[in-house]
Amino acid sequence: MSDRFAYPQALPPEEFRRLGAMALDIAARHLETVADRPMRPHPPAEIQASILDQPLPEEGKAPEDILSFFETQIMPHARGNGHPGFMGWVISPPSHMAILTELPGVAMDSPCGGGGQGATYLEWCAIRWIKELLGYDTPDSHGLFVSGGSMANLTALAAARHAAAERAGWDMRRDGMRGAPDFKIYTSSETHACVTKSMELMGMGNSAIRLIRTDSNYRIDINELKNLIEKDIKDGSVPFCVVGSAGTVNTGAVDDLDALADLCQHNGIWFHVDGAYGAFGALDPERAGLFQGMERADSIALDPHKWLSVPFDCGCVLVRDRQNLRNCFSLTPAYIRSASEIGDDLGSPHEYSFQLTRAFRALKVWSTLSHVGARAFRETVSRHNTIATQLAKIVEESDDLELLAPSSLSIVCFRYAPPALAGDNERLNAVNRALVDLLQKDGRVYPSHTELDGRFALRANIFHYATDQSDVDALLDAVRRHGEALARRND
Ligand SMILES: *Cc1c(COP(=O)(O)O)cnc(C)c1O
Repeated sequence: MSDRFAYPQALPPEEFRRLGAMALDIAARHLETVADRPMRPHPPAEIQASILDQPLPEEGKAPEDILSFFETQIMPHARGNGHPGFMGWVISPPSHMAILTELPGVAMDSPCGGGGQGATYLEWCAIRWIKELLGYDTPDSHGLFVSGGSMANLTALAAARHAAAERAGWDMRRDGMRGAPDFKIYTSSETHACVTKSMELMGMGNSAIRLIRTDSNYRIDINELKNLIEKDIKDGSVPFCVVGSAGTVNTGAVDDLDALADLCQHNGIWFHVDGAYGAFGALDPERAGLFQGMERADSIALDPHKWLSVPFDCGCVLVRDRQNLRNCFSLTPAYIRSASEIGDDLGSPHEYSFQLTRAFRALKVWSTLSHVGARAFRETVSRHNTIATQLAKIVEESDDLELLAPSSLSIVCFRYAPPALAGDNERLNAVNRALVDLLQKDGRVYPSHTELDGRFALRANIFHYATDQSDVDALLDAVRRHGEALARRND
C-alpha cells in the first residue's frame, strides 16, 4: 500500500497534530478576545483586496501560511456576535462545545443523506431531544436538520402543499402547478420574508399569499383571517396552509397559536408555525402560555443556530406526521436504494427533504445540548426574556425613550424620543437612524433596527448567553449620550 499521507490532501499524523494545535490556538484566541474587539466588521480597502484578489495558487502553500492568513486577514473582520454587547438581529454566539466537536466531526466526514450510520442515529436522537424540549414528541412526529429557518419553512410549506393537493385529488409530484387548484396561504404582515421567497420558489407566486393585518400587539388578526378563509373557500380557492409566528423577527410577537390551530382544524388546513427565532421561547415557564397551540401544529420551523447557540448553519423542520415529508420528498433511485433501506422505520434523511448529501449538523446540536443541558438552556432563555422585559419597563418609564412595541420575548423595539422632539416623527426617524449607526460604530453594544408603522426603531435582542444587566445599562447610556448629541446637532 502506498503511503496515504504522502499526498497534499493529507498530512502526516505528527504534522496533523502539530498544526491542529495551532488551529485550536487560533480559535481559542478568537474566543478569548472577541469581547475586546469592534462588533461591526469594516475591513479596510487593502484588506478587502488582499482577500478578494488572491491568485489561484498553482503550487500548494504551507499549512502555517494558510492558517496565518486566515487569522490575520479574515478573523479580525468578523461580525461581533461573540460579544455579550451584541444585540443585533437574531444572531447568537457559538457554543464552545459545538466548536470542539466540529473538528472530529468533519474528520469523520459523514455524508448524512443515508441512514444506518452513526451520524444518522445521532441526528434522530437530537431531533427527539428538540421535540421533547418543545412538547412535540408525538409518536409519528419527526424532523430533520436543514440549513436554517428559511429552508425549514420552505420544506414545511412544500409538505403542506403536497398534503392539500392529495386531499384535493391533485397529483402534485406529477403535474406540478399547471392547472392545479387555486392554493392560498395565510400569514400575518409581520411574517418573515422566507415565506414569500418559498412561495415564489414553489412556483405559486407571492400573489397566493394572503397577508393578514396584525393587531396593536403585532399578532395576526384572527377574525380577519377567519373571514378571508371563508370567503376564499366560497370563491373556489383552496387554503393549503396557515403560517403562525412563534416570535416574529421584528418584535418577537407570538400569534394566538391555539386560535390558529382551532381554525385550521375546523377547516382542514395545514397549520405551520414559524418558530425560527422564538420556538425555544416556550422553554421559559413564564412565557410558555404564549405558545399554547404550537404543539398542535402540523409542522414547526425552528433554528438551533439562533437561541440554542449552535454555530451556523443549523435549522430544523419538525412535522407531526413524518409520512407527509416522505410523500413530498422521498425519491430513491436504484443506486442508493440498498444503502438507504436499512431496517429501521425512520429510513434515511434524504427521504425527508430536498437535499441528498448533507452536513453532519446533528453533531453540534447534540454536543451543545449534551453540554449545556435542558435546565441551563431553559434558564438562559428565561434570563434573556426577563432582561428584555426589564429593559422595556425602563424604556416605558423614561421620558426620553419610547417603547414602540410590546416586548413578549427577548426583543425590545424602542427609540430615543426626548420631549423636545415629541410629535415630530420625521426628526425622530432621522435621529434614531443616525443613532443606530453611531451605536454600532461605538462598539460597546450593538443593537440593530427595524421600522414599525413608519417609525424607525432601535431593536435590541438579548440573545448572547453572557449578556447581563451591565450590557443593558451600557445600551441605555450609549443611546442617551449619542441621542442627546444628535438631537442637539439637528436643532
Ligand atoms: C431567522 C428567521 C427566519 C429565517 O431563518 P434563517 O435561519 O435565517 O434562514 C425565518 N423566520 C423567522 C421568524 C426568523 O427569525
